[in-house]
Parts: sequence; C-alpha cells; structure tokens
Amino acid sequence: MKTATVTPNLTQLTRMRFVNAYLVREDDGFTLVDTTTGGAAGALLAAAERAGAPIRRIALTHGHGDHAGSLDALKERLGDSVEVLIPELDARILAGEHVVEGKLPGGWPKDLRTAPDVRLNAGDLVGSLEVVAAPGHTPGHIAFLDTRDGTLIAGDAFTTYGGVAVTSHFFLRFPLAAMATWDREQTVATAVALRALDPAVLVVGHGPAVRDPAAAMDRAIARAGGRAKART
Ligand SMILES: [Zn+2]
Repeated sequence: MKTATVTPNLTQLTRMRFVNAYLVREDDGFTLVDTTTGGAAGALLAAAERAGAPIRRIALTHGHGDHAGSLDALKERLGDSVEVLIPELDARILAGEHVVEGKLPGGWPKDLRTAPDVRLNAGDLVGSLEVVAAPGHTPGHIAFLDTRDGTLIAGDAFTTYGGVAVTSHFFLRFPLAAMATWDREQTVATAVALRALDPAVLVVGHGPAVRDPAAAMDRAIARAGGRAKART
C-alpha cells in the first residue's frame, strides 16, 4: 500500500498502483473513504496506525467491488468501534434490491455481509465531509467535499490517469472505469456539478491527486461532450 499526504487532512492510500482509498483526519480519528479491493484490510489498518489514529468511520463512494472489497474484513476487525456509511441507492443494490431498469455494469460484490449503519444522501455530513450527489458511474454514486479545505473526493466520477477524464468518456489509458459506468449522460451532468463546486484539490478512485483542477475538469467535460457552467 503506497501512502501519500495530499493535504494535512487527507492521506491517499494506493493499492497495486491502480485503486485508491483515503484517510480523512477528524478530531476522533479517521474516516476511511473506500476500501479498495479484497485482501487490503491489514494494509489499510496499518496505514491508519502509522498515521497515528484509529479508523472511526468507513464511507463508500459507491458499491463496486474495487471500492467495497475490504469492507467485510475491516468490519470484522473493527467491530462496533467503526461506523459504516454507504450511499442510499448503492446500499439497496448491494442488499439485492432492484432499483433501476436493466442490468447494471461493473463489478458488484454479491456476498457483502456488512450492512451500513447509515445510508447516505446528498447534504449529509460525515465528519467534515459533505455528501454530494454524483450519480452516473453507479445509480447511487456520491462524492465527498471536505468543508475545511475544498478537497473533493470524487470516487469514480472522474479518473486522473494521464490527465483528468470524465469516466463516461472512453479513455484508452484507463478504460476499465469507463466500461463499468452505468449512465454516461448522468455522469457528464455530475462532472459539471462537481466542477461547479470549484474544488481546491481533486482526488479520485483511480489516478493521482490533482491540485487546482478547474481547467483540467473543464477540458475533461468538454471532451466528454458536456458544457461547464459557472457556479451561480
Ligand atoms: Zn466503480
């Protein structure tokens, strides 16, 4: 697990050079955003320990297996000391509910045992993180905006390998996230909405952190066929 300090509040944890989780510092310990693939629980716990605090909350951006993969193992090790938060619609999908028409693309774990303590919706607060609706990649996908410093944890709404890209846009260097995307049009609308938040730093599920990402997000939206709008 590769560790990088992005801001004083945010540590990026990268597994196998392709998938990220994040430790967000709060007064009582860390919120872990996403858990990467299966088999990472020990490394994620060790990273939190090295960073000097326990994991108090686990919040997912969406339900795909490369984000929820180590949730069960973490919950097993942390027990009642950790709160689990999953976006509403994706929690229902993971529970086996049929929430949208047709087949959902992407790798959805079929045997997730951990039920969320909280189902997240737009406007909810997770410590210092504000939940922002970001549907498209999955029906319930959310992003987290750190209200202290404007860092946006965008999950798979964008990828940043070789530059910022909207995940709907087929991107040769990292096509996996694009192929797993549920609704391309919604993903572009989400990209426009996230851009309007004017984040100071953009971090994502797949790719490095991007500082002052506005211009790169605008280009990505234009390439994906959308039009950025100024914040009103
Ligand atoms: Zn995904």
